[in-house]
Amino acid sequence: MTEIFLPRCQPFFWPLQPEAFTACSKNRALEILRGCKALVLALCLLVLAGCASQKSDGSYQLDESLKATGKNSRIDIIVLHYTASTKPSALLTLTNRDVSAHYVVSDDSKPVVYKLVDENLSAWHAGESSWYGRTYVNPRSIGIEIVHPGWSRNSTGDVGPLYPAAQIDAVIALTRTVAQRYGVAPENIVGHSDVAPLRKQDPGPAFPWKKLAQAGVGRWFDEAAAAKYQAEYVRNGPPDAGWFQKQLKRVGYNAPESNYFDANTLHTIAAFQMHYRPELVNSKPDAQTAARLRALPTNGSGL
Ligand SMILES: [Zn+2]
Repeated sequence: MTEIFLPRCQPFFWPLQPEAFTACSKNRALEILRGCKALVLALCLLVLAGCASQKSDGSYQLDESLKATGKNSRIDIIVLHYTASTKPSALLTLTNRDVSAHYVVSDDSKPVVYKLVDENLSAWHAGESSWYGRTYVNPRSIGIEIVHPGWSRNSTGDVGPLYPAAQIDAVIALTRTVAQRYGVAPENIVGHSDVAPLRKQDPGPAFPWKKLAQAGVGRWFDEAAAAKYQAEYVRNGPPDAGWFQKQLKRVGYNAPESNYFDANTLHTIAAFQMHYRPELVNSKPDAQTAARLRALPTNGSGL
């Protein structure tokens, strides 16, 4: 405000030269007074405007007139689940127990998306969890439940039941909107089994992660690079346990650092396979698993 108003008054008072002042006419003096009255009035208006942006709460005043530039969204992970139950059963559980999700995507022919928790609140969907070293992801994530009975394998080894195409289209649209709203990176759109590999298997190997990635939602591996790496590992043998553990950590998983294939490492490999090699989930650290793991980008989609 000083930049706006002082220059108008300065020529009359600064530098102070008595002889110049005495040379002022009466009109000139009135002009000075008018200029200063305008300044005082403007200052009063500014003070009033400042007061208007403050709220009083008795013991303090809340001033919201200043905004910081160093900040980011509280939400940086989206976790996809399946309900392992029917829609009525899932909605009953998710609205009456100590478990919840922001959204439920139904399996109706025209899917319904139920919004059960406001996005500015935490939903209780992931439990003990970790992703890229960020533990207990509930407060920083959006949870999306997909109505699905849970995966199984038939006599010929195929996994199912398949998710209906309309339901997947709804999941893609919803997840894309949420990811755009908060700037969630592709590698942070994950399954419950990714963030809790020792406890969870949802959304399971029947979930079409590749289709999501092709629609610009989530991360996939560079398939050409994976084919090249796989040939290399078939020729020379797959890498050791320490390599797998480091690579699993690099792409987000909370892998052990034991340097051998302990039970937790094998569970984590199975979680990786459920997401990136759903056609064969066997916990084995084979050449193809190693190749896909190596070809998975740390940041951004590999497609
Ligand atoms: Zn889940």
